Amino acid sequence: MTEPRVMIVTGGSRGIGAATARLAGRRGYDVCVNYLGNAEGADAVVREIEAAGGRAIAVQGDVAREDDVERLFETVDRELGTLSALINNAGLTGQASRLDAAEAETLKRVLEVNVLGVLLCSRAAVRRMSSKHGGKGGGIVNISSVAASLGMAGDYIWYATTKGAIDSLTIGLANEVAGEGIRVNAVAPGLIVTDIHIGAGDPTRPERIGPTVPMGRCGQPEEIAEPILWLLSDAASYTTGATLRVGGGR
Ligand code: NAP
Repeated sequence: MTEPRVMIVTGGSRGIGAATARLAGRRGYDVCVNYLGNAEGADAVVREIEAAGGRAIAVQGDVAREDDVERLFETVDRELGTLSALINNAGLTGQASRLDAAEAETLKRVLEVNVLGVLLCSRAAVRRMSSKHGGKGGGIVNISSVAASLGMAGDYIWYATTKGAIDSLTIGLANEVAGEGIRVNAVAPGLIVTDIHIGAGDPTRPERIGPTVPMGRCGQPEEIAEPILWLLSDAASYTTGATLRVGGGR
């Protein structure tokens, strides 16, 4: 029997992370659904994976806190086994505004979750997956955004800044561990229908902006989950350091 593949999805309780966790469960991964506060959402994703015959656990943890990240990965070591995939998905925009109207707390929190969180989780994953540390290799997929190249003037340039950082991190880490059995890639989604827009204080953004997307519509979380799973698969065996734009032309 082949060893089960084990995946952590940060922010797996809703949106893109939940769709990715569900698809990974169907594709045979044992999945850790990480969440911040929404235990109900995370449990629902776990139940769906189990109902489809898969294996999953929900683990609370703030990716911006080193002790939480360590506990998250140690729980997976103990309960699911050897980690083979990390999806750095947890993220937020903060309340939308121009920079000159933004609260310092918003800037700090978005940078901590979207950048420090990805660095901490990636470090924990490399320590487990790298052949340099006795690991068996694996894959990391970071969730960037088309915001990195659009800049998001008037909305949340600090969020775009964090996604630019993710693109740098993706190419840098990919090259750092390319000879150690780990591929690191990113998906940069366009406008996707999730609760993130509620968190930005702009719940009607998808309906308003959707028609201006070249394809004339927003994307669904499932349309991001597919390229994430492809990047992890053997079909993408020579792909590392890539950021795949999935934005309907945006
Ligand atoms: P979402 O629906 O708002 O879901 C965010 C998820 O992240 C939730 O599971 C949330 O957990 C979790 N989370 C937030 N802060 C966390 C923290 N500190 N530690 C652990 N988990 C945390 O967001 P989404 O739209 O699916 O976005 C997912 C990723 O895609 C983000 O990185 C986002 O920047 C990126 N993205 C989204 C879009 C879009 O249009 N939606 C476009 C481009 C890129 P709780 O449920 O427990 O709060």
